[in-house]
Amino acid sequence: MPDSGSSRRAFIRTVGVVAAAAACGAADAKAQEYKPQEQKKLTKAAAKYQDHPNGNDGCGACPYFQFPKSCVLVEGDISPMGWCRMFTSFSPLDRGAHT
Ligand code: SF4
Repeated sequence: MPDSGSSRRAFIRTVGVVAAAAACGAADAKAQEYKPQEQKKLTKAAAKYQDHPNGNDGCGACPYFQFPKSCVLVEGDISPMGWCRMFTSFSPLDRGAHT
């Protein structure tokens, strides 16, 4: 006759292994679902986009602008004469390249 304590421990161990396997499966599924290239862009409102330049700064001079009328960061039609709060004249490709 089996010891009820040892069978309970075996049951708990089995449940633990099954739970761990399920957790790993969930983690794998999440890792496979992660597609950074499909990240959503900001709305124009969230970016405080305006359809006119801010002084001398405008989308046409920003490295995030994509000719003819879009932006890497902000959704919708983007004018080369527009501007938003993420404007930069500093190319993302240059980041970290300066000493
Ligand atoms: S200023 Fe803003 S909206 Fe315009 S290109 Fe740069 S990041 Fe995009």
